[in-house]
Amino acid sequence: MDITSLDLAGTEDLLLSFGEPSYRAKQVMRWIYGGLAKSFRDMTDLPAQTRKKLDGAASFSSVIEINHLASRNGATKALLILEDGNTIETALLPSSKAGGYTACVSSQVGCPVGCCFCVTGNQGFKRNLSVAEIVDQVLYFARRLEQECRIMNIVFMGMGEPLANYDNVIEAIKRFNAPWGLALRARSITISTVGLVPGIEKLAKEEIQVGLAVSLHAADDKLRTQLVPINKKYPLVKLMPAVRQYIKATGRRVSFEYCLIDSINDGLNHARALAHLIQGMNVHVNLISMNPGCSGYNKPKPKKIIYFKNELEKLGINTTLRRSYGTDIEAACGQLKSRELL
Ligand code: SF4
Repeated sequence: MDITSLDLAGTEDLLLSFGEPSYRAKQVMRWIYGGLAKSFRDMTDLPAQTRKKLDGAASFSSVIEINHLASRNGATKALLILEDGNTIETALLPSSKAGGYTACVSSQVGCPVGCCFCVTGNQGFKRNLSVAEIVDQVLYFARRLEQECRIMNIVFMGMGEPLANYDNVIEAIKRFNAPWGLALRARSITISTVGLVPGIEKLAKEEIQVGLAVSLHAADDKLRTQLVPINKKYPLVKLMPAVRQYIKATGRRVSFEYCLIDSINDGLNHARALAHLIQGMNVHVNLISMNPGCSGYNKPKPKKIIYFKNELEKLGINTTLRRSYGTDIEAACGQLKSRELL
C-alpha cells in the first residue's frame, strides 16, 4: 500500500491500527505534502518506533524515475515506472507566475480514446492509474524542485482521458485541494477531457474546486469524429449542452482546447465555425499548435495560426495561443514513452 493512497482519515486509521495516536496523521501529512519528505525516515518529529511501523506498513512512492529530459525553455519531462512495470509520462512546465510551475499529470497507462494525432492514443490502453500513482507524479516533481512546493497548477493533460478514470482522479484532486494536502486553490487544477458527456455531467455536481477544459479540435461532427473518434458516441449535439449545463451549474468558465493541424482544421472557415458554435458561452479558447513528430500530422505555418486567432478575436471570442514547451524533448504526451519502447 502506498501512503498517498490514504487521505487524512485513512492515515489516522492506519496509525490507530498499530496503537499510535491519531493526531500523528496530521504530522505525517505535513511531512508528505508540506515538507516534501523523501521517506518516513525524514519525519524527524515522529518517534523512531512510529516511523519504523509506518515503513513496514506502507511504501513511500508508487513511481520511480527511469528517465528525464530538460528542455531549453525550462520544461522537464519524466518517464516513470510503476510497480507493475508499466510506464507513464509526466511533465513540469514553468508557469507565468515567477518561480512557479505547472505539473502536467497522466491519469491512465495509455489511453482508450485513440485520437488519431496522438502518440499515446496510438499506443492503446493498459489500465487506470491509482490515486497514489496520480498524486505521486506531482510529489515527484515537487521533491525534485525542493524547498517548499512551488507547483502552483496541476493539469490533467498527460496520458489518458481523466474522466474515464473518474473516481481516482477526483480522489487525487481532493488530496491536492485539501488543507492537509497541497492546499491548492480553485482554478489551480484543470481536468482536460475530449468530451465524455456523462463525466462532465457528474463533474458539474461535485463539490470540488477544479477547472474544466474540453478538447474540441473541430466545430463540425464530420471532422471531429475523424480527429477524435469518441465524437461518434458523444457528438456536438450532446457535448455542447453538457458544457452549457456545466457552466450554468458551477458558474465557472470553461476552456476549449483547439489543436491547430496544418491543412486539416486551421482555415478561416474552421475559425468561423468554431466562433459560431461557442458564441455567447462563458468560455475561452486555447489554441495549441500541433507538436511536430506526432503521428504524421504537421503544425501550421505561424502566419496561419495568427490569422486563425485574429479571426476568432474579431468574432468576439476570448483566445489565447498557448506557448509550446519542450519541442526539443518530445513533449507531446507519449513521445518519450514511445522512444523508450523502440
Ligand atoms: Fe487520449 Fe488525450 Fe491522446 Fe486523445 S489526446 S488519445 S484523449 S491522451
